[in-house]
Amino acid sequence: MYKKLTEPIVSEIEGIVGKENVLRDKEKLIDYSHDEFALSEAFSFPEIVVKVANTQQVAEIVKIATREKIPVVARGGGTGLCGGCIPSYGGIVVSTEKINKILEIDQNNLMAHLESGVTLKEFYQALKIRKLFFPPHPGEESATIGGLVSTNAGGARAVKYGTVRNFIRGLTVVCSDGKIIQAGGKIIKDSTGYNLIQLFTGSEGTLGIITEAILSVMPEPDAYLTVIAPFHSTKDALKCVPFILKSSARPLAIEFISKQVISIAGDYCGKHWPSIPGEIFLMIILEGTNNQIEHDCETIASICMENKAVDIFVAQAEEKQQEILHVRSIVYQALKSNTIEILDITVPPAEMACHIDFVEQLSNTHNIWLPTYGHAGDGNLHTHITKKTLDGCDIENWKEMYTKIRQFIIVDGIKRGGRISGEHGIGLVKKQYLDMCFNADYIEILRKIKKVFDPFFILNPGKIFDPE
Ligand SMILES: Cc1cc2nc3c(=O)[nH]c(=O)nc-3n(C[C@H](O)[C@H](O)[C@H](O)COP(=O)(O)OP(=O)(O)OC[C@H]3O[C@@H](n4cnc5c(N)ncnc54)[C@H](O)[C@@H]3O)c2cc1C
Repeated sequence: MYKKLTEPIVSEIEGIVGKENVLRDKEKLIDYSHDEFALSEAFSFPEIVVKVANTQQVAEIVKIATREKIPVVARGGGTGLCGGCIPSYGGIVVSTEKINKILEIDQNNLMAHLESGVTLKEFYQALKIRKLFFPPHPGEESATIGGLVSTNAGGARAVKYGTVRNFIRGLTVVCSDGKIIQAGGKIIKDSTGYNLIQLFTGSEGTLGIITEAILSVMPEPDAYLTVIAPFHSTKDALKCVPFILKSSARPLAIEFISKQVISIAGDYCGKHWPSIPGEIFLMIILEGTNNQIEHDCETIASICMENKAVDIFVAQAEEKQQEILHVRSIVYQALKSNTIEILDITVPPAEMACHIDFVEQLSNTHNIWLPTYGHAGDGNLHTHITKKTLDGCDIENWKEMYTKIRQFIIVDGIKRGGRISGEHGIGLVKKQYLDMCFNADYIEILRKIKKVFDPFFILNPGKIFDPE
């Protein structure tokens, strides 16, 4: 259904971006054949990788691809966890690594104008020196702005301010016919027709290629505080969360994690999680003025103690808070060698405890290790489906077991009113569950939207939907 690249087409592309910006050697293409999703079935080589330098070049490449019916896949940092940037049908990978300028940090409007290949790390650094703050913090800082927008990334710090979606004010997008459109701008309120920004957000490179974004930023808070509340059981810990959310406290993050998992992460990175009793921890991050966080800390501490917390640990020193955050952030890497897939099911917050209970029962009845932790403040859970039994032995028929367990967990999440992805996206590997989340009429509208934006299924085919 797609055509292959020919020498004349490659020469045409080289003429646009320069020969040195077109990769063709198999060895160099390996890095672009996968993301962070582990199963080799998802790996697929592009025919070429094009390192574009600006919006105009992206537009020229996309025009050629549409003219020739060749797939084009946008790739940012390649840190995605669902095979989103894998060129499943070959063709061209457009890498944004060289569209990476911070165009402006507008301190009067509190907005940053960035090219899509800027990494999260570069963005945070540029903000820090100006005493500014971008609340979303998906765990991997080599992710790019284009990737964050295209997956509507979340992370721990979404409780108070929401996911990346809430911060996008403007986008520059190359459409499948090579036309360049600008949605939004340096404006906060906008009721001027349909909101294409919201449509491109989370569209995983299937509706257009984002080359620039304008994001809202905030003044850096005066202070941060990290509170850890240990509990004897997951149920007790999670029961506490709605009380915190209903209180006058406004936490930036409410994470939950087991002692077993956080110990593995601590050993992995050689840093220390506070040695406090309890089997399950709520980690609550507060930010604001000193008075505000002091008040919030007292409120949260008394809620936790009234709801069976074993103790309260408060980290005030920046270094200690950073150490705790680091251990929490490294969990994915620490579990990676045994992980087949990390799920990111999202359920109504009040259903979280029951869903985790279900996962624990599944783990016991099938003797499979399913470490689960996540963003307790917004109902977004990370279950790692591993290749290990509960006592650490290898599971021989792990592929069979993985398929079965994954299905059970996803069905339970959806039955509880949840969705298959709270922040990672659908990508290549979750599309078979899409019709469990929505009815046929809804799916039909999604497909029609795809056709309007990309009638020839050139943009990232095989993601979210299979090509028709
Ligand atoms: C250790 C670790 C921790 C993580 N923690 C979190 C977390 O807490 N929360 C979270 O949400 N995610 C998390 N992730 C997942 C990942 O970092 C995010 O999905 C991130 O947004 C991907 O950005 P990227 O630049 O790497 O995108 P890629 O992986 O390169 O691409 C992801 C998708 O976006 C599309 N895309 C990329 N750039 C563009 C563009 N310019 N225009 C159009 N489409 C584009 C791709 O085609 C693909 O569909 C984590 C990943 C790792 C490895």
